[in-house]
Amino acid sequence: MKSPLLILASLLVPQVLPAQEHDPARYVSPWRTPWDYEGQRGAQHWSELDSSYAACNGGKEQSPIDIRNARKADLPAIRFEYHSEPLKYVINNGHTIRVDYHDAPGSGNFLVVGDKRYQLSQFHFHRPSEEYIDGKPFEMVLHLMHTAADQEVAGVAVLVKLGRANATVQQLWEHMPAAEGQQQAGDAELNPAGMLPQHTGYYLYTGSVTAPPCTEGVKWFVLKTPVEMSVAQINEFANLYPHDVRPLQPLNGRVVQETR
Ligand code: ZN
Repeated sequence: MKSPLLILASLLVPQVLPAQEHDPARYVSPWRTPWDYEGQRGAQHWSELDSSYAACNGGKEQSPIDIRNARKADLPAIRFEYHSEPLKYVINNGHTIRVDYHDAPGSGNFLVVGDKRYQLSQFHFHRPSEEYIDGKPFEMVLHLMHTAADQEVAGVAVLVKLGRANATVQQLWEHMPAAEGQQQAGDAELNPAGMLPQHTGYYLYTGSVTAPPCTEGVKWFVLKTPVEMSVAQINEFANLYPHDVRPLQPLNGRVVQETR
């Protein structure tokens, strides 16, 4: 067992952060300080692990939440301008399976809300869903994270229920690394639109990234219509990550809106 002094030292020693535009061919953990969902480095302790994780246990607008009693409102329709492009790498970052996008600004995949365009930066999965609807989680959730030119972050949560296999997810799972790191996907082309439901009505609220550093100011669009994945597909993910979920966070007076 590590002595407390050693653990303290490892927290204080400055660590080299990855360069802003790191080489996508080389896997680098996105986190300076390791964390976990449960135990000593679990969700109740994230803010103690690293000063940059302060919002995790000190923030007032955190995610995920239980969505209930949403207020119907005249919200703009959202549109996905997603297309097929080479998958290149599938990442296992020690907490989930993730695909990063390295498109030049203005040239990738977009979430369009009114006249605002948010560019897709990465997507990843949780099991079960982090979001609850009326007190219940779904089998899984897909989080598609986007950033606008003004740096506002928009997350799209696609809930997953049991059903038929999803062909796009199948493509991903075929290249899923069993341990932390990344796997080359050869010449596989992937279109993230293959994991979206047909109807894009949504719940809307302001929250945070659900893993450290728990940055706030994230606009969450939680799609009302779930997509399907097969038992085998869900089990394959569960073999790696049976429970990669942050606990529900208090609303603190926030209002959840929903499309009519
Ligand atoms: Zn997530």
